[in-house]
Amino acid sequence: MAENIFLEVVTPSKVVVSEDAQIVVAPGSEGEFGVLKGHTTFLTSLKLGTLRYKDSSGKDRVVFISGGFAEVLPNKVTVLAESAERRKDIDPERARRARERAEKRLASGGNDVDFVRAEAALRRSIHRLSIVGRT
Ligand code: ATP
Repeated sequence: MAENIFLEVVTPSKVVVSEDAQIVVAPGSEGEFGVLKGHTTFLTSLKLGTLRYKDSSGKDRVVFISGGFAEVLPNKVTVLAESAERRKDIDPERARRARERAEKRLASGGNDVDFVRAEAALRRSIHRLSIVGRT
C-alpha cells in the first residue's frame, strides 16, 4: 500500500481537516489534480468544488471547498480555503436558505445588488446541496 501524505485544510476560522491521507484529489483552478506521497512541490489556486481524500484507513472523505490555495509538498498538502466543511457538517437547510436569498437578489435586478457576490453565494449553496445529495 502507498505511504500516507499529511492533509491539512484550514479556513480563516477553523481547521477542517488535519490527518493522514492515502490520496488527495482537489479542484485546482486549472483542473482537478490528485496527489500521492512523494509528489513534486507545487502551488495552485483552487476553485469552488469538492476535495476528496482517502483517510489512512481507506475511507473516502468529501470536503466542500469554496476556493482558495493549495501547497503541495512531497509529504504534505495544505489547503487554505475561504470556507470549507466536511460533508457531514454541511447543513442543507442553511444552504437552501442561502440559495433562496441569492436567487431573490439576482431576480430583483435592483441597483444595489452586488451580482458577483450574489452569484458566488448561489454557486456555494448549490454545490453544498449537491455534495449532500439534496436540491
Ligand atoms: P451563509 O449565507 O449561509 O453564511 P455562505 O455561502 O455565505 O452561506 P460562507 O461565507 O461560505 O457562507 O461560510 C461562512 C461560514 O459558515 C464558514 O465557516 C462555513 O464553513 C459555514 N457555512 C456556510 N454554509 C454552511 C452550511 N450550509 N453548512 C455548514 N456550514 C456552513
